Amino acid sequence: MALLKEKVTEIHHWTDKTFSFKTTRNMSFRFKNGEFAMIGLEINGKPLLRAYSVVSPNHEDYLEFLSIKVPNGPLTSKLQHVKIDDEIIINSKPTGTLVCDYLLPGRNLFLFSTGTGLAPFMSIVRDPETYEKFEKVILTHTVRTSKELAYRDLLTNLNNDEVYSEVTRNNFIYFSTVTREKWVNEGRITDWIQENTLWKKVGVENFKPEIDRVMICGSEEMTFDLKKIFEKLGSKEGSTKVQGGFVIEKAFAEK
Ligand SMILES: Cc1cc2nc3c(=O)[nH]c(=O)nc-3n(C[C@H](O)[C@H](O)[C@H](O)COP(=O)(O)OP(=O)(O)OC[C@H]3O[C@@H](n4cnc5c(N)ncnc54)[C@H](O)[C@@H]3O)c2cc1C
Repeated sequence: MALLKEKVTEIHHWTDKTFSFKTTRNMSFRFKNGEFAMIGLEINGKPLLRAYSVVSPNHEDYLEFLSIKVPNGPLTSKLQHVKIDDEIIINSKPTGTLVCDYLLPGRNLFLFSTGTGLAPFMSIVRDPETYEKFEKVILTHTVRTSKELAYRDLLTNLNNDEVYSEVTRNNFIYFSTVTREKWVNEGRITDWIQENTLWKKVGVENFKPEIDRVMICGSEEMTFDLKKIFEKLGSKEGSTKVQGGFVIEKAFAEK
């Protein structure tokens, strides 16, 4: 396993629970948008690594990650204190199932996320190929409180962004829901889907398993529930080996 060393160049604390950071990028580190890599810190001379989805699209010359802060987490109790110019280590072999190639060709692409499960979709929604493959790209992000909606400004303005408006051509749709406080859209995304209210709300035709595709990234409960919902609707799970109607990745491993 080759470990690359990168320097932290920017840090942003979203809340007391999440932060994001950018690092330098050795261009020998290549990945597909949506993939994750093992990253971490050298602690007492030993690498301490955890899986992290790459937030930055693969055409950028830097890397970006969105991280949880687990109070007693072996890695994040330390990682949350990184400063500019600190070194992080990255395993050079990224992997993962949230890649457009693992989905059958289709009409609309739905990206469902909760919490830090947003991370892999940040690279996918800025990838020109995503918009060559799909007509509309709909990203949903569900969190407890609105201040946890990381990258909300960037996502809200993506269609008007100086660089990315050319990529999205108004075909990107961002929809956030909040479960524990008042917000424009409240509740779990599973309810929005099961009550058949999501499609109209985001301005697309009702989900059709024959032509619409799905990626799911979030907690164990969320990924389990959405898998059941889309299977019931007639969609089949894809993998790195067989293309399908939907692909799933857990945003973290439960203890
Ligand atoms: C495929 C994959 C991709 C991942 N991508 C990311 C990512 O992009 N960003 C990220 O922050 N984490 C991600 N994780 C989780 C990450 O690998 C670590 O678990 C996390 O950084 C905490 O590390 P730790 O050593 O501090 O605590 P750990 O011992 O790893 O975790 C302790 C506990 O904290 C909780 N937890 C861990 N991660 C999260 C999370 N992201 N959100 C909510 N609760 C969590 C779980 O209950 C876990 O059992 C991913 C995990 C997997 C399996």
